[in-house]
Amino acid sequence: MILDFPGGVRPLSRTKLGKSNIEYISACSAVCIKADEGAKTVAAIGSRVLRGSLIGESGGTPVYASVAGVFRGIMELEDNRYFVVMNSGEDGEEAVYSPESRAITELNCADICESARRLSVVETRSGAPLWKMLENANGKFRRLVIDCTETDASGAINYRLCIEQAKALVGGAKLLLQATGALKCVFAAEHYRNAALESILKYANDEKLFAIAQLDEKYPYGDRAIMEALYLTTLDKNETAFDRGIFIVSPETAVALYNSMAQGMPMLDRYITVCGDEIAQGKNLCVPRGITLHDISVICGGIKKGGRLIENSLLSGKLASGALSDCTRTLIAAKKQTKARTECISCGKCADACPIRLMPLNVLAGDIDDLRDNCIYCGACEFICPSGIPLLKLIKKRCNAEAEQ
Ligand code: SF4
Ligand code: SF4
Repeated sequence: MILDFPGGVRPLSRTKLGKSNIEYISACSAVCIKADEGAKTVAAIGSRVLRGSLIGESGGTPVYASVAGVFRGIMELEDNRYFVVMNSGEDGEEAVYSPESRAITELNCADICESARRLSVVETRSGAPLWKMLENANGKFRRLVIDCTETDASGAINYRLCIEQAKALVGGAKLLLQATGALKCVFAAEHYRNAALESILKYANDEKLFAIAQLDEKYPYGDRAIMEALYLTTLDKNETAFDRGIFIVSPETAVALYNSMAQGMPMLDRYITVCGDEIAQGKNLCVPRGITLHDISVICGGIKKGGRLIENSLLSGKLASGALSDCTRTLIAAKKQTKARTECISCGKCADACPIRLMPLNVLAGDIDDLRDNCIYCGACEFICPSGIPLLKLIKKRCNAEAEQ
């Protein structure tokens, strides 16, 4: 059965990258790993560090060098603070790790939470440290959902992870079940991703513990879509899936938790799809955490003139800058949209596409009460509008202008 949810936009074409294996990249010129306001350095500035060396601490989470090289300390770049390591270009320099010796069944929530903190495992849908999500999680969750959907129809990294890292994915799901106390784990993916779902089922063959959910092929997905499709329930304003006892994570998070604990190695890499008409060669990649966008562009043969890298989704269109963030799963090289704008023809497509069941065209008449209170800025309305009306831009402008008054 294909599970539906309100709104969303059906893609015009699917990605061609579903058949491309993940390429593992270790060489890059530098890495910039996000640091919060109170972040501290541990390694000496200017010292040589190994891949996996402890270099600092940020928000109670240890920070490790994801490449070997020279540690440059914490630097301000484009309004953000980063731990910076310049790669020495030498391969094979890696710290020594101690794998987890206990069986999964011997570990309780506190053990797994502490391992996720020590190994700096991040939840890659939100970019939040996994240990902060797991703190006091035991007993609060009914279900674990591994959200294997892509952020955009052009992405394929979750699909490839399900195929190439199925054992680690299911191992990570077992750890998360143990940590959250959830009784069952559901793997949710677009309905046509059969190879991924079959690959998962080879390892997740206990029907009492695992289930598969096939979702309608529409974007954007996210907590709301998953809650509507799987549990036939609508989240209230400011409510999250967590508030309803559903713990949702990306497949990369489960894979990283399992691999990090099994090898005792911190989470040093990120998995992404780089795609779009304006990149020379689209790829599925495993790259050092905090790799610069410049290095990613070089690995993919360069961005064509006029192209820009958009994070995660063409619908909401956030421009990527500096270094790869912990919640970017797809980078889409695209030109600035230049759709000619004409009058609204009252076709209703924007309302049909809205996952919150709002009336986006109301912004044209200045009626923004409902939009201001409930819009999640997903961009589906603007993407679908045949008249090229920049609905998302107008909604943001009007709502922000009101908030400032
Ligand atoms: S999709 Fe565009 S043209 Fe159609 S009703 Fe909405 S604003 Fe008007
Ligand atoms: S941007 Fe807001 S109004 Fe437009 S589709 Fe998304 S939630 Fe609805």
